[in-house]
Amino acid sequence: MQLSTSKHVEILDITDKVSGAVRSSNIDEGMCAISTSHTTCAIIVNEHESGLVSDIIELLEKLVPSSAGYYHDRIDNNADAHLRAVLLGNSETMPVRKGNLELGTWQSIFFVELDGPRKRNVDIVVSSSDFRG
Ligand code: ZN
Repeated sequence: MQLSTSKHVEILDITDKVSGAVRSSNIDEGMCAISTSHTTCAIIVNEHESGLVSDIIELLEKLVPSSAGYYHDRIDNNADAHLRAVLLGNSETMPVRKGNLELGTWQSIFFVELDGPRKRNVDIVVSSSDFRG
């Protein structure tokens, strides 16, 4: 799927889109992999509470301050986005049970834009673990 982000750093809840992809796959038991093919954004799973979303953005700024003399900024002024993406990771894998994404009560799936606004691709692959033995 394609996403259009609207801010430089932004956290978007993509849980409904991923859940919809799982349901339309008609796979009953298996795994759902959510990944992005870019190097300056991330996929994470956590609680969708607005204060926490702001806390995550502030944590990233504290851990990887913008323009802190990074080598990569000499050729491309976005080293902070790459380094934040390294910390968060570009994919998550979740179980599929009884045709639905198995999420904990407080879990949501987020796309994290770290160098926007941009158009981004998110790949959702649902695979079956059904076997007859
Ligand atoms: Zn770069």
